[in-house]
Amino acid sequence: MPIFTPGRRWQPAYSPFKKDTFGNRVLENFEYAIKGPLFGCRMCGNCMLQETAFICPMECPKGLRNGPCGGSTPEHCYVDKTRPCIWYKIYDRSFKMGREEKLLEVLPPLDWEKVGSETWGDVFTEVKKMGFGKFFKGMAFKSAKERYKTWDTIFANVRQPDWWQGDNQYHAPAYTEPVSNLEKAFKAGEFVVACEIAPPLSMSTKKLIENIELVKPYVTAINYTDNASATPRMTSWACSRISVEKGAEPVMQIAARDRTRASLQGEILGATALGVRNVLCVTGDSPVLAPKPRGRMDINDLDAIQMIWILRRMRDEGHYLDGRELKFPPKFFLGAAAAPFASDPKFQAIREHKKVNAGAQFFQTNLVYDPERMEIWLNELAKRNILDKVYVMIGITPLKSAKMAHYMTQVPGVFVPEALLKRMDEAEKGGPTAMQEEGVKLALEIIEKIKALKGQGIHGLHIMPVGWEDIVPRIVTEAGLLPSGFVAPAAKPAA
Ligand code: SF4
Repeated sequence: MPIFTPGRRWQPAYSPFKKDTFGNRVLENFEYAIKGPLFGCRMCGNCMLQETAFICPMECPKGLRNGPCGGSTPEHCYVDKTRPCIWYKIYDRSFKMGREEKLLEVLPPLDWEKVGSETWGDVFTEVKKMGFGKFFKGMAFKSAKERYKTWDTIFANVRQPDWWQGDNQYHAPAYTEPVSNLEKAFKAGEFVVACEIAPPLSMSTKKLIENIELVKPYVTAINYTDNASATPRMTSWACSRISVEKGAEPVMQIAARDRTRASLQGEILGATALGVRNVLCVTGDSPVLAPKPRGRMDINDLDAIQMIWILRRMRDEGHYLDGRELKFPPKFFLGAAAAPFASDPKFQAIREHKKVNAGAQFFQTNLVYDPERMEIWLNELAKRNILDKVYVMIGITPLKSAKMAHYMTQVPGVFVPEALLKRMDEAEKGGPTAMQEEGVKLALEIIEKIKALKGQGIHGLHIMPVGWEDIVPRIVTEAGLLPSGFVAPAAKPAA
């Protein structure tokens, strides 16, 4: 167990991809012999201990280098319940040390050419660049503030390579005219409703098209998930394209779990060329939730924040990650997931802040069953001064049964209050219809409370009906949220 991170699990170091010189191997082993026992170093080749309260994040099974996922809990990692969430520990210690603002810097994905190699050589090179005299003077004879500045200049250059240049600043979009109807509706001040349709499990698009036609008049945009629960379905971009053809604006979800940096950039160009104008980046559920046999559970090439950073720069700065110019940059409205109930609202607010800085323009939250408790999270976002920079849509899933309500208590990042469980249990005595009615009633009560927060940082709803798409028109109508210019669909002729 690493000395400075109690409870952290020991994991083996990475090996360099190519055979290294003898001299480098000596240096690598020397660095590992010291940082291994102290920090549990895995020799990632791009050290960020300075930013993570001296806890190495490379234990995270999702490979996250920019904060916890939406399933983070104080007790354990949801992918592997035998270990703590290392990001929870990093956030906890950062707050105790007063270093939490350091967590806002957008850190790069690994350079796999450097993985397994030492970092101290890079530090030495930076000190040499600065000049040994200047470095030692800066460290020995200056104020604490100056000392920190000297130290950070060296390490910032080590952890932020030229091809990344991550920072902790907000980057406003480099355009003004809305690029999608969703963005237009937000800008017009509407309380916007989106809903999710689960992509088909086969190549048949019949049900998908029926669902699109069913919900289209009632919502501004439709989300298509990207292999949710790490379980294969029709791709999000194919569903999005079908949606465009049917005149229903899609939100294409894109999960880091299944992407490399090359496939992300290629896919976004393809999707925008096919008419997709809203993109939502998520890290993606771990394969631990998928049917067996499971895919790799320990490495993601990118995390959601890195995806947002790359996509924003493609759009606003007109270049690929590798620096090549993009003659015709893609256009899209960029979103991210948010998790009001994962870990601690203070911790999650930092992560949401970082997403906004990286380029997220709208949030769709995880399911909310306790609007009062959600307000704690909202207040944390307000303290961070980001509510005027992002549109927030609250996730709603109507409960269809008591069994579903109890299942939701097991979903990472979801909180279901005891009173709500009791109401569903009571309704169970009346049978399936009574349970569905109670589920709709509860959803409408929650929506009423959320609507009251319009103007205080909440801009809309995101309904995730998990296969119960038929209920969307009723919920939107009874909640009084029909979109402006709503035209009721023609009644189907009797069969
Ligand atoms: S961030 Fe990388 S180099 Fe730094 S301690 Fe962790 S594995 Fe080692």
